[in-house]
Amino acid sequence: MSSGTYNIPRSLKDGFCRYKMPRLQAKIEGKGNGIKTVLPNIVDVARALSRPPAYPAKYFGNELGAQVQIEEKSEKYIVNGAHEVSKLQDVLDGFIDRYVLCPVCKNPETDLIIKDKMITRKCGACGERTDVDMRHGLAKYIVNHPPPKEKKGGQHASAGNGSGGEGDDADGIDGLVQNTNKLALVDEDDVDDDDWALGIDVDMSAEAVAQRQKDAEARLAVIDKHATGEDAEDGDDPYDQLGDFIRANREASDREIFAKATELQLGKKHRAVIVVILCLFEESAMVAKDIAKHDKLLVSFGDSDKHQRAVIGGFERLIEERPELLAKTPAIFKALFDEEIVEEEAFLEWGKKPSKKYVDKELAKKIHKAAEPFIQWLAEAEEASDSDEDDEE
Ligand SMILES: [Zn+2]
Repeated sequence: MSSGTYNIPRSLKDGFCRYKMPRLQAKIEGKGNGIKTVLPNIVDVARALSRPPAYPAKYFGNELGAQVQIEEKSEKYIVNGAHEVSKLQDVLDGFIDRYVLCPVCKNPETDLIIKDKMITRKCGACGERTDVDMRHGLAKYIVNHPPPKEKKGGQHASAGNGSGGEGDDADGIDGLVQNTNKLALVDEDDVDDDDWALGIDVDMSAEAVAQRQKDAEARLAVIDKHATGEDAEDGDDPYDQLGDFIRANREASDREIFAKATELQLGKKHRAVIVVILCLFEESAMVAKDIAKHDKLLVSFGDSDKHQRAVIGGFERLIEERPELLAKTPAIFKALFDEEIVEEEAFLEWGKKPSKKYVDKELAKKIHKAAEPFIQWLAEAEEASDSDEDDEE
């Protein structure tokens, strides 16, 4: 799972990234008429979306006009023809939009309910039921291949046999619990703190439910902001394109990455540095060393307060993706300081109080706590140098 994750949905860039999916992998095999694209991790991706892998696989076939071969037992999912992974990931966004996200609150915690040959998404976060567009080719397939029932009892979702019907309250809660269980973080081994393993234990207290509702609203606000902002359509989002470029060109030099960013008109954008951080620093054990290696790239987008704050924010986001990095916060910050990427003033400003600018408040607090030794060291160093300067005057 070291190849990293995306938010669900991918267009969600700022904060609140509670839901993750592994990046799709695609291997082009064979040649000529027999050329095909193997999807080695579609099962994991589908699991993160809490949908059977055949759904996105068939969706690829529909959208790309290609034959799809499925061998469920051996977990083989193949799309005929050669398809770039970035294209497939874009197509997957469409699938998520149509068959996963709640259109009301944009939360991915939905169940598909099939009744009278119609598909409804039932949202575990806001409770809305919304109809799926039945004109799309995949909709018919889903009706004929309803999602499997859950192990325990399984009287929710995938009705169609008369047992579902209008869900009462008990059904709603049951659905939510099961659904969030399925939506546990992509790689539980990477999670060492229960607070981060959102959805593994579902807290049904009034506060928790209210908090989820609030999260849902916040997600929606973020998405609205994007929809009306500079990067309206996610397929063409230059930030996405930059991320895809970095992932697809692992050998690219810093100079090439920055050239690509400039080409995408992101050369001066502070948010671009976040994409770079999230896509470039793949190996958790190497982050501090890699900062030294890529120091020039990290400052090339700009060095204003906003840019420096974005660099810190990028690493906050990286910690959110990879909780094992939390303990390394002081080393990461020290490297940023040593390489003159983030100056002491920016760190001290950041250290004043946890902000939910880049990650949620709870995580921001944890990062502040973890960073304490470094911030303290910095404050003391500053005091010392201040008195030096006094001497010089
Ligand atoms: Zn909803």
